[in-house]
Amino acid sequence: MTSQESHDPPASLVRCMRQLFAEGLTTGTSGNCSLRLTDAMLITPTGIHPSELTPESMVATDFAGNARGGRFMASSEWPMHASIYRARADVDAIVHCHSRYATALACSRREIPAFHYMVAVAGGDSIRCAPYATFGSVELGRSVTDALRDRSACLMANHGQISVGPDLESALELARRVEELAAQYHACLAIGAPALLTVAEMDEVLEKISGYGQPRRLTA
Ligand SMILES: [Zn+2]
Repeated sequence: MTSQESHDPPASLVRCMRQLFAEGLTTGTSGNCSLRLTDAMLITPTGIHPSELTPESMVATDFAGNARGGRFMASSEWPMHASIYRARADVDAIVHCHSRYATALACSRREIPAFHYMVAVAGGDSIRCAPYATFGSVELGRSVTDALRDRSACLMANHGQISVGPDLESALELARRVEELAAQYHACLAIGAPALLTVAEMDEVLEKISGYGQPRRLTA
């Protein structure tokens, strides 16, 4: 977590959801985000529009779904968030949304291949598409956690996208990058089959990123 996020986790989640909405990455009440707490998580509530969210409406729950007080119900996607936190000690924040182009690709059950070197921003030479499972299910949690192995983002078949990181700011920035890459790849598919980078070319990019000392962060 950033120092601002650890100072006030509920307010950081409100800001994140409002930012997603303001940037057009979510509409209505879709999308959710969370922060890791000690042996638990703080997650956005279900069914509340970003404009009506307050820090008090955030829900603290353990990884088995037992809420720790509060008046609101956790996002229906809490099993997916819990599954990721259990499997990934490197993840302290998660952002999930149904952004337009990422969702369009996910509905075609297409991954984003190495059509552009920036695909490496998610940690590898592709951004996978997790196999379909019903929203809010434990199966979806497993499917997404598996698609995120060695990665910090993936698409979710017939659903949307998810980005993870050491803090909300990084996860939100990655969600933006994934949406931009999805839009660019969509445009490439409209022209015809894009030329893909080779494994060796992507390895060189991934090597260069890790050389920055900030793995999975790409600013070039
Ligand atoms: Zn969703």
